[in-house]
Amino acid sequence: MNTPTEWRTRAGALHKDSRPAIGGERISALATASFSTRHPHDDALVATLPDCAEADVERAVSAARHAFESRAWSGLAPAERAERLCALADHVQAHAEELALLDSLEMGMPIAQGCADLRDAAAGVRATAHLAQSIDERMLPSAPSTQALARRMPHGVVGAITPWNFPVYVALDKVVCALAMGNTVVLKPSEIASLGCLRLADLACDAGLPPGVLNVVPGRGETAGRALALHKDVDALSFTGSTATGQRLMAFAGQSNLKALMLECGGKSPQLVFDDLGDLDGLADALVQGFTWNSGQVCVAGTRILVVRPLLEPLWERLAHRVEALATGDPLDEDTTLGPLANRAQAERVRGWLDHVRRDGLHSVSGRAADGYCHVAPTLLRDLPHSHPLMQEEIFGPVAGVIPFDDEAEALRLANDSRYGLQATVWTRDVAQARRLALQLQAGSVEVNAVALPPPSNVTGLGAEPVKMSGFGPEGGVSGLLAYTRLRSVVFNLG
Ligand code: NAD
Repeated sequence: MNTPTEWRTRAGALHKDSRPAIGGERISALATASFSTRHPHDDALVATLPDCAEADVERAVSAARHAFESRAWSGLAPAERAERLCALADHVQAHAEELALLDSLEMGMPIAQGCADLRDAAAGVRATAHLAQSIDERMLPSAPSTQALARRMPHGVVGAITPWNFPVYVALDKVVCALAMGNTVVLKPSEIASLGCLRLADLACDAGLPPGVLNVVPGRGETAGRALALHKDVDALSFTGSTATGQRLMAFAGQSNLKALMLECGGKSPQLVFDDLGDLDGLADALVQGFTWNSGQVCVAGTRILVVRPLLEPLWERLAHRVEALATGDPLDEDTTLGPLANRAQAERVRGWLDHVRRDGLHSVSGRAADGYCHVAPTLLRDLPHSHPLMQEEIFGPVAGVIPFDDEAEALRLANDSRYGLQATVWTRDVAQARRLALQLQAGSVEVNAVALPPPSNVTGLGAEPVKMSGFGPEGGVSGLLAYTRLRSVVFNLG
């Protein structure tokens, strides 16, 4: 176990290379503009990065195109690609602490959580690599003189645009699915946390991925992101981020070349709590964890806690007690489970939302926030109408509301009264009720009696596809891999 001082010493000794990774090497950006990242715990400067624009994106896309057309990657047997991706997993595992430290410095993730997540991510890479080998071609019954088969082809050059809440984890998940199916990739990480993603490109080279197969271009959304989304030689774009940006990317895809699009956007996940679970303490622990994990900066955070009325008071008492006991802390302290928000803008946004609580005289309880601008106290609300903006908008901070319902029909109506449709949880022992609700809830994934895991953890599982304004396109499992391909039919006349 390292002390915060030891982590800070390690951070000081890290070589923070902020140059774009293009064609298998780090090269100086053509862009002259730059931006900086600061540690959200103490506002210390972490790095200054180039704000890459059209010219750098052009170089990255052209390197990816060249690598794709050379067939140095797409022409490998799936087993050989899997072997190189497993080597990448080994490198990620070996460098988990370094990658977690870069993420933590830039966006404040508690270091212990970051290290655990990245080891988990390495396991996810191996699982994806193996799963991709199981994708088969389909042969159709045909006359003796013909043969018809349906084959999955890689898109070609895939653009990936990612958020900052699990920087390396989400990027790795996206990129590895695309690579496993034979595509080459240009990744544009979030400007809030790019250093870990840039380091991934170095690790990919060390793992034996040919030059140009994985390129990483740092920059802001309006510059590098826009240029990538509008690029006419990008065949598919995979995005995780806010719904507002997702809407812009749809327009960019249409304006440019009708590139295939996958959008994993925002959420406002309902928790439907019935009164037959028994263990109210365990339930309260899970519900608080569900909206405060990663300081609430989780797309599937369970922020709408809908509780059957007879359970409201006993559950509220337990939830309030737990929230009041929470305190945010130094992300480089391994005992910290709740860190600051990712940066000043994000903290200001969440504080702006909390102004509603005072302005509208809402009933709330809060924990404690450590000193420092980006620390925001976790807050739980009650007795507010479900139509209140705090219950309708994604806050992306440790804030949730508790609302009672009288029966299953009302619970379902409230749960579906949202423009989002990413995830929902049903807390009940009544299997028939859980099944009924699971089929009627408007959500890409439904958990029963379990806190939601972020989508990347489902990588080897069933896969899921958001609904409504949470986006579209499956993530995880075989369906998630197939999203990185196009279907081609091939008919042989053998006569
Ligand atoms: P964001 O939309 O602001 O940014 C996401 C990415 O898009 C960044 O790389 C950003 O630079 C880029 N971008 C921004 N504007 C752009 C533009 N005009 N053109 C091209 N690219 C642009 O989102 P964020 O604040 O980084 O992340 C938080 C959001 O991500 C939340 O809404 C959260 O729910 C969502 N998210 C969703 C999932 C999921 O799987 N559904 C997972 C994690 C996060």
